[in-house]
Formats: sequence, structure tokens, C-alpha cells
Amino acid sequence: MEENNEEKFAAESGGGGDSGSASGRGPVQAICVFCGSRPGNRPSFSAAALDLGKQLVERQINLVYGGGSGGLMGLVSKAVYDGGRHVLGVIPSALLPEEVSGETLGEVKVVRDMHERKSEMAKHADAFIALPGGYGTIEELLEIIAWAQLGIHNKPVGLLNVDGYYNSLLSLFDKGVEEGFIDTKARNIFVLADTAAELLNKLTEARLASEDDDADTAAGEEEEDQKGGAAAGVKRKRSQ
Ligand code: AMP
Repeated sequence: MEENNEEKFAAESGGGGDSGSASGRGPVQAICVFCGSRPGNRPSFSAAALDLGKQLVERQINLVYGGGSGGLMGLVSKAVYDGGRHVLGVIPSALLPEEVSGETLGEVKVVRDMHERKSEMAKHADAFIALPGGYGTIEELLEIIAWAQLGIHNKPVGLLNVDGYYNSLLSLFDKGVEEGFIDTKARNIFVLADTAAELLNKLTEARLASEDDDADTAAGEEEEDQKGGAAAGVKRKRSQ
């Protein structure tokens, strides 16, 4: 039977099964970047990818990404690798041939399929960033937002809106709220900025805020437990 990667990710990431800070707590040590396997038409897209790589190096943050060497993926990974930080590329065996993904820098983890790749990428990162990209990037971004909405992870998600690339997607989200498909609170699951420095600052703040929420939830639960609330055996929806 096909393994459920969301459950696998939730268990490994939230239950302390994974090492380091990729459990949703502590400083941001690794960020998963979703971005185009092409460079796009504007020089500002490549400049933003290089700037993000530089910012990650300056802040001593490691990179987790899809393992390709083309487009914005190649630019970010090279900048982080050249800057001396750890780069983990997670690549499905079908994309492994060099003519598809090119020469991958740093550590490469080969996985069975795209689903396993996504859960692996998510498991090893403390936060997520999407740069401009195509269907692959947009799909990865939306899935990680949907997982946050479902409480599968509580890691911050950031959208680097270079030159307003994501404006139409943001309008669609607003439409979703207006038409009653997206909860107003869920509209702001992700943080948004148009420069890497600003986005990384916001992600760090978001991570600290979620730690405070966790602490409040834990304190509330302890109080409940003392009152006998736990005896009801109700499965609480704790964020991971
Ligand atoms: P896209 O935005 O359609 O260019 O797709 C980019 C995303 O899809 C990346 O974040 C990767 O996870 C994945 N992807 C697409 N093409 C490749 C490739 N040639 N090698 C590795 N990953 C890829």
C-alpha cells in the first residue's frame, strides 16, 4: 500500500522523530526553497534568487531544495553552496538523470517519487520560501500552505513576491476569502515580502510567535490536565 507521506511527515517532524530544530521549535537552521527550474524572463528574478542565497549564507541558514541545477534552483543552491552552507537536494529517482536535473551540488537524497520528495523536503526544513516559479513551484507552495492550514506542520511559510510576480495568485486568495472558501485567518498563513532580507526577518518573527503560541497552548493544556480535562481522552489538535 502507498505510504501516507503527510502522516509520515507529521509523525517524524512533530513527534520529535527528526533531529535538530526541524521540529518547529528553536532557531531557523534550514529553509526549504521552492523556485523555478527556469530563470524566468526578468533579470530581477535571478537577482532575487542570488540575493536569497547570499542572505541565507549571511544568516548561517542551510538550504533544502528540489535538487535541480537549472533556473532559479541552480542560482540559489550555488550561492548557498559557494557560501559554505549545507545544501540538501531531494530528488526523485525519475528526475535523477543529469540531463533532467543537471549537476546537483551538496548532499543529494534520492527518493521514490514527488510525494516522498515533498515530505522529505518539509521534514528537513524549519521554514519554507517560494520564489517565482512555474507549476512545480506553485504546487509546492500551495501544498505547504494547505498542510499548515490542516495543522500538519507549524513551520512558517514565506512568499518572495519579486516584482509583483505573485500578485494575481494573491488576488485569487482574496477572492477565496470573499467567496467563503478561505477562512480570513487562513489568508495570512504565509508571510509576504519583496526582498529576501525582509522576508527572512518576517519568517524569524513568525517562528518566534508560533513558539509563544505553543507555550500558551501547553500551559493551557497543563491547566486543563490538572482540572481533569485529560481524563476525557479527547485527542487535541496540537500543532507539530
Ligand atoms: P517549476 O516551477 O515548474 O519550474 O518547478 C520547480 C519545482 O519543481 C522545483 O521546486 C522542484 O522541486 C521541481 N522541479 C521541476 N523541474 C525540476 C528539475 N528539472 N529538477 C529538479 N526538480 C525540478
